Amino acid sequence: MAPDDITLKLRDVRAASGLSLSKVAEMTGVSKAMLGQIERGESSPTIATLWKIAKGFQLPLSALIDTALGDPSVFQTVTFPGSIEVKIVFPFDPALGAETFHVNLTPNQSHESPAHAAGVTEEVFVLAGALEILRDQEWVPLQAGQGLRFAADMPHGYRAGAQGAAFLNMHHYAQHAEFFEQGKLSS
Ligand code: MN
Repeated sequence: MAPDDITLKLRDVRAASGLSLSKVAEMTGVSKAMLGQIERGESSPTIATLWKIAKGFQLPLSALIDTALGDPSVFQTVTFPGSIEVKIVFPFDPALGAETFHVNLTPNQSHESPAHAAGVTEEVFVLAGALEILRDQEWVPLQAGQGLRFAADMPHGYRAGAQGAAFLNMHHYAQHAEFFEQGKLSS
């Protein structure tokens, strides 16, 4: 799918929550104006913004992206503006409390992420290239075929070598979002 085909479900998520734009702005740290633009499809958020929204709602990232479009057996690519290319391999499964992404970094590209919600653990498995993971304030070097598990409820990052890097990135949510348990959202 072309990145343009990606549909964000922010409007649905907010409607299900019954919260006002002001309240959501307060809870996510994303401005009311920006949230409004995203809901109306007038602005494509960066992955950093999307993570802020997900964290505010205590939702996994893929809950904000409409993964019901197209052939579910085909990876959905989300290229975030000015940022990294992410494919959803497995959208969030509430029974497993997990979601899996495939991430491509261009040569020497790096991406740092603030802490996700409490208890979130990530795993990275390098498919190609050399990658460094910022874990507990230290960059850990990984080669293709190597993996790393780290606590993602603290700041962390990903940095590719001169050849770029491709890796699988699993997110595990220890506390399943109540939102999902209440069945307010279906993906
Ligand atoms: Mn992360």
